[in-house]
Amino acid sequence: MAESFVDLHCHSTASDGTFSPTEVVRLAKECGLSALSLTDHDTIAGVAEAVVEAKLLGIDFLPGIEISAEYPHPGTMHILGYGVDPESGKLKKLTDTLIAGRDNRNPRIIAKLQQLNVAITMEEVENEAGGQVVGRPHIAAILHRKGYVSSIKEAFNKYLAQGAPAYFDKERLTPKQALEMIRQCGGLPVLAHALQLHTDNDGQLDRVVKDLVDLGLAGIEVFHSDHNPEWIAKCEKLAAKYKLLKTGGSDFHGTNKAHIHLGMARGHRVPRELFDQLKAACAAAARPPLVRP
Ligand code: AMP
Ligand code: ZN
Ligand code: FE
Ligand code: FE
Repeated sequence: MAESFVDLHCHSTASDGTFSPTEVVRLAKECGLSALSLTDHDTIAGVAEAVVEAKLLGIDFLPGIEISAEYPHPGTMHILGYGVDPESGKLKKLTDTLIAGRDNRNPRIIAKLQQLNVAITMEEVENEAGGQVVGRPHIAAILHRKGYVSSIKEAFNKYLAQGAPAYFDKERLTPKQALEMIRQCGGLPVLAHALQLHTDNDGQLDRVVKDLVDLGLAGIEVFHSDHNPEWIAKCEKLAAKYKLLKTGGSDFHGTNKAHIHLGMARGHRVPRELFDQLKAACAAAARPPLVRP
């Protein structure tokens, strides 16, 4: 059989991507991908639409979500949740809470920008976002369009990134809560882009991953647009050591991260077998355990 490729990490307009869920699936088809997982931040609002288009185009699909967990500066810890049950009441409650955390943070960013003489309103930001999940890339896109910065990247560096003047943190789950919540919602938790943890050395990275494994981590993202061959090798090694599922994806955000292309993770394509193994593991996790008499 011909080689087949997938993308297990991408964002739509349901969070901070610029392509609708339908458009992301169409693009996946155009790129020749055979399977896709949509992993919007803090929401599965895009999943229903993506499922319909994926069926239509004959692309296999797995629902996903990406959640940010508490982690010391300057690192960030993102946990992907695969195979979460879109009907789960717990998931609805979880996403409502995460979105409330954003709604609490975003007006503070805007107030600070206004103090810095940037002409921007919450209303503009909400219009830019379109959906319920309003994130910093939406604010960055407005700053870019209005000419305050020459790129999205500069908007982060100058205003929005950790350490910049208009940075405000949002309420996050602890790693333990994030892993537990994903499992309670029928999903499998996977550590995203381990490079972004900004660990000082391999020993520290190992300890962080081991702690997550003890809390129920099921997989690690090996291929990602931030991962060079060295990071791919580190993550492969951790996957083997802790018997973790391996995943990979582009982290496509449309024009909010224009250098990232769907189906490509820093020059690597993601082999189909990673999707098949992940999907099988999600199905096994969702089955009720055998009850022995
Ligand atoms: P938020 O969820 O609103 O906190 O924003 C997180 C989003 O902003 C994610 O898509 C990140 O990849 C993106 N982001 C965070 N820091 C930067 C940065 N320095 N440059 C570009 N994008 C960033
Ligand atoms: Zn994003
Ligand atoms: Fe992320
Ligand atoms: Fe992402």
